[in-house]
Amino acid sequence: MSIRKVVKYGEKSLREPSKEVHKVSQKIKNLVQDLLDTMYKENGVGLAAPQIGENLRIFVIDVSTDKEPLNPRVFINPKIIKKSGACISHEGCLSFPEAFTDVRRYANVMIKALDTNGRSFILEAKDGSLLARAIQHEFDHLDGILFIDHSINRFEADEELKNKNLPPIQVEKLLDEPELAEAVNKLKEEELKKN
Ligand code: ZN
Repeated sequence: MSIRKVVKYGEKSLREPSKEVHKVSQKIKNLVQDLLDTMYKENGVGLAAPQIGENLRIFVIDVSTDKEPLNPRVFINPKIIKKSGACISHEGCLSFPEAFTDVRRYANVMIKALDTNGRSFILEAKDGSLLARAIQHEFDHLDGILFIDHSINRFEADEELKNKNLPPIQVEKLLDEPELAEAVNKLKEEELKKN
C-alpha cells in the first residue's frame, strides 16, 4: 500500500468528528494498511484515520519495542466501555512534530472494536500502560480531540508548541476534567513526598 502525508496541527481535518465505518470493505482494509505503513514509517506508536485526512472511525496502534516482533492492532468503530483510575502521561503526536507535554489520562480502559476482518473484540489495558494511554489518545482523534486538550499545565504546553513553531493552544478546546485533575494532583503530591 502507500505512505500517506500526516496532517499537522492547525489543519482542519484534525478537529472534525469522524464517521462510523459501515462495512469493512477492501477499501477500508487498504486504508488500514496505509495507516500501518505510515505509522511505521514515521516511528509512531499509533495513528488515526483523520491524521491522514480520512475522517473515518479507525485507528492503529503498535506498542512493541525495537527488540520485539511487530504487533499491529487495528480498531474500527471503537467504543471505550470502561475507564478508571488516573495517570500522568508524557505525550507527543505525529501531527505535532517534536512537541511533548504532560496530559491527564485514565489508567485503565476497556475498549470494544472491530478488527480488520470485521470481527468484534474487547481489549483491556491497565495501569497507565503505553497501550492504555495510546488507546485514549487515538480514540480522541476520532472526535477531533487532541492530546493538548488534556494538558496538565496549559502554559507549559503553550510554551512547548511555540518552541516547536506550532499554533498555540485553543483555550476553548481545553477539557474540563475535575475528577482526573484531582487524581493527577494527588499523584503529583505523592511523587513530591517520595523525593
Ligand atoms: Zn495523535
